[in-house]
Amino acid sequence: MEERTVKKLMTSLKCTSCGHNYQMDDVKVLGNHQDLYFLQVTCSSCHSQFLITATINTSDNTQIISDLTDAEFVKFQDSRSPSANDVLDMHSFLKEFDGDFSGIFGYRKV
Ligand SMILES: [Zn+2]
Repeated sequence: MEERTVKKLMTSLKCTSCGHNYQMDDVKVLGNHQDLYFLQVTCSSCHSQFLITATINTSDNTQIISDLTDAEFVKFQDSRSPSANDVLDMHSFLKEFDGDFSGIFGYRKV
């Protein structure tokens, strides 16, 4: 894989210190052995430095392992990832939840 392609892939990641998206110039490819790459990344925003090892699979037979059906995968593939607030909301909900699922789903006993 070309060094430029590896750098381009890294631009989809964010700095773990400040959240700034990495730019191609932030990434230095130190070397690789087959699909294993050794990278030095310097955030252009906060100047934090990280050494990253990344396995970049270049084969075309990539298989996704999931419990989702094909229809569910299509439905959720463009969904946003849960935010920290989403996790906090769920934490608060579960802290108060009494286990009454029928009350949540509006199920009434006959
Ligand atoms: Zn940063």
